[in-house]
Amino acid sequence: MPSPEAILADLVAFPTVSSEPVTAIADRIATRCEDAGMRVERYETSPGKCNLVCSAGPRAQENRDGVILSGHMDVVPVIGQPWTSDPFTLTRRGDNLHGRGSCDMKAFIAAILHALPSLPLKRLKNELVLAFTHDEETGCHGSRALVERLAEEGRPVPRACLIGEPTSLTIFRMHPGHSAAQIVCLGKAAHSSKPDLGRSAIALAGRVLIALETVAEDWSRRPAARPGDAALLDRPFVVLNVGMIRGGSAINIVPDHCTIEIGFRPLPGMDVEELMDEIRGRVAEVAHALHRKDDVQVTLQRVTPAMLTPEGTALEGLLRGFARSPKPLAASFATDGGNLERLGVQTLVFGPGSIDVAHQADEYVPIAELHRAVNVVEAVVGGRCA
Ligand SMILES: [Zn+2]
Repeated sequence: MPSPEAILADLVAFPTVSSEPVTAIADRIATRCEDAGMRVERYETSPGKCNLVCSAGPRAQENRDGVILSGHMDVVPVIGQPWTSDPFTLTRRGDNLHGRGSCDMKAFIAAILHALPSLPLKRLKNELVLAFTHDEETGCHGSRALVERLAEEGRPVPRACLIGEPTSLTIFRMHPGHSAAQIVCLGKAAHSSKPDLGRSAIALAGRVLIALETVAEDWSRRPAARPGDAALLDRPFVVLNVGMIRGGSAINIVPDHCTIEIGFRPLPGMDVEELMDEIRGRVAEVAHALHRKDDVQVTLQRVTPAMLTPEGTALEGLLRGFARSPKPLAASFATDGGNLERLGVQTLVFGPGSIDVAHQADEYVPIAELHRAVNVVEAVVGGRCA
């Protein structure tokens, strides 16, 4: 069996930036799983995009005591980043392996694939499911589609799930969700020498931005409904970010359009629609005051759900011996675990590499953590399935 480093190098060489297909890397992973004797199912979402479910042991039915090990196959782009070596050639420097996806999160996938041949797959008591997803980085689209398909099929899956996102081997049992909304401000174009003949979409957007700031401020002061769990978060409230704004077409035209894109991060248990209603209400007040009610449209674009797993699960017990600190914490970033909750799955996020170097130039995973991840996979499968 190739070393974990060799498998990781092979996976990193697939430039699976989210805008690109994942079918080639999915084929490679599928082959390794088939060679190890696993069942392999491909769930195509759109041309070039698929999720992969590989499984071994008796199918989960009433018995859902097995485990899901999950990782996303896509990576963030490298364009414009100051890489000092080819991002898609795994490069060793000192005790670290550099390359796009080395920590986020192909190291965990490499650890799984390396461990497979040594696992007692033919003698498992409970089902082992490997779920490899696409387009996690752009909003967990792959896992959402996969969860819908599995729910339609009525396919039970193991209750416990480990997602090996880079956490520097810290256990996370919770994270906020991430929702995206678009606010379109409209106006009426006119020659800029006669602005009174038009209505500026950008001027309206300016007022909307101020209203959004007050929403963010209100949210930051509002105590969480579940203070016990939220206390795990650095920011135990809904954060809101105005991420993008586009408007106008020339300096001598009164602009007739301006689009604002925002993201906000609901805590577990919060209703995204209720938060959207607050945004809609505040924006409508502004528009109403300007007699421009019909000039604003607020649309929810995308929802990545929050995740909350109770403290003290059996999987947590298996991970504790490998963890940096015994107490599970909360991640600030969203994962596929939020979507998996719909299937009654309790996810813990725990993996090699640090989120602090993910998504950046010269991203890396420490070799020692890659090897530790192999032991984690063996211990988790042994503890849950054997
Ligand atoms: Zn990731």
